[in-house]
Amino acid sequence: MKQLQTEIKEFIEQRDWQRFHSPKNLAMALSVETAELVEIFQWLTPAQSHNVSSDTLVHIEEEIGDIMIYLTTLAAAFDLDPVSAAHKKLIKNAEKYPAKDKDASKEKNAD
Ligand SMILES: [Mg+2]
Repeated sequence: MKQLQTEIKEFIEQRDWQRFHSPKNLAMALSVETAELVEIFQWLTPAQSHNVSSDTLVHIEEEIGDIMIYLTTLAAAFDLDPVSAAHKKLIKNAEKYPAKDKDASKEKNAD
């Protein structure tokens, strides 16, 4: 993650783009890139969305890359680490949505 953050920071600085990168603009750009990913799947059936062409797969990968770049840049604007944020949120989600005890479920079904 640190290497990616450094590469993105250098890319931005070499082009003097940081003047455009307010958190507001970065959040908007992130939303636009996410919409570009959604557009790929628009009108596909669920089954079609599992079986995309190799060209579409390349397009999906590019949009995921765009999303990751803006997400990483937005997080950096607040000195946050996206991976750490995801770990923290998974812990919070696990508390909010506890996993069902599969063994207990089997015992109930056996009764
Ligand atoms: Mg894009």
